[in-house]
Amino acid sequence: MRSVREMGSEQLRVTFHGVRGSTPCHGPATVKYGGNTACVSVQAEGQRPLLLDLGTGLRYFGKQFVEKDVPVNAVALVTHLHWDHIQGLPFFAPVLQPDARLEMFGPAQEDGTSFMESVKSIVRPPTFPVDMAGLHGRFSFHDVADNDFAIDGYSIKSRLVPHIGPTVGYRIEFGGVSIAYISDHQQPLDGSFSIADGVRELAEGADLLIHDAQYTPAEFVTKAHWGHCTTEFAVGVAMSCRAKRLALFHHDPERTDAELDATKACSESSGVEVFVAREGATINL
Ligand SMILES: [Zn+2]
Ligand SMILES: [Zn+2]
Repeated sequence: MRSVREMGSEQLRVTFHGVRGSTPCHGPATVKYGGNTACVSVQAEGQRPLLLDLGTGLRYFGKQFVEKDVPVNAVALVTHLHWDHIQGLPFFAPVLQPDARLEMFGPAQEDGTSFMESVKSIVRPPTFPVDMAGLHGRFSFHDVADNDFAIDGYSIKSRLVPHIGPTVGYRIEFGGVSIAYISDHQQPLDGSFSIADGVRELAEGADLLIHDAQYTPAEFVTKAHWGHCTTEFAVGVAMSCRAKRLALFHHDPERTDAELDATKACSESSGVEVFVAREGATINL
């Protein structure tokens, strides 16, 4: 079977709106790759856009709707509720319109708190001036764990991923193209290499794997239990799961443009097409 690229038809448009982990950053050392936190849009012709996480990059995705004065109708696939993955939601200007629609998927908490209750507990005083009702748009919520489901014409898998607290990753398939999104991934604490079955299901043979690459090996020694992994581990996951392309993602806020450029060079011998995710970059698959 010929690949989609050989067929000359592009099925999915993937745009990085925020590529940082933990907290936004700015300044001359981060101009090239950007400083907003996790948010990636996936768009297929005639389908609602899918938003992978709602970090601070979401605000920039939202500008097109405000500028064109068209109501947003989108789906958010949220991995977990750490600030860097949800903080853009209350600043997503299109949802101030009453005819806005945002359907959101995300994990429930271990104590049984639903994803909806968790989001509503974040977007309200005293952490934000207004509550979700004050945003005026219409929101719907779904809990996910290890699930397979369809959104419009997309086939979606959510699988629990090792991190800190309930966290999922997603696989999106559309028109024979597959994208795996594993933004925050705890590698084994002892430095060994193993991959959870659910993670493998997400990443196996993916045309594009977007994966946590927060730490250098030296940083992992002191932050092994903080829920993330090294660039080397991300490359290992891509190689083991035979992903075709790997986007290194969730960059540490301390990582400079020069260091990210050097990271790319270190990955060239892996056999996988590796690149460093950059804010504003679009890939057509
Ligand atoms: Zn994160
Ligand atoms: Zn996290």
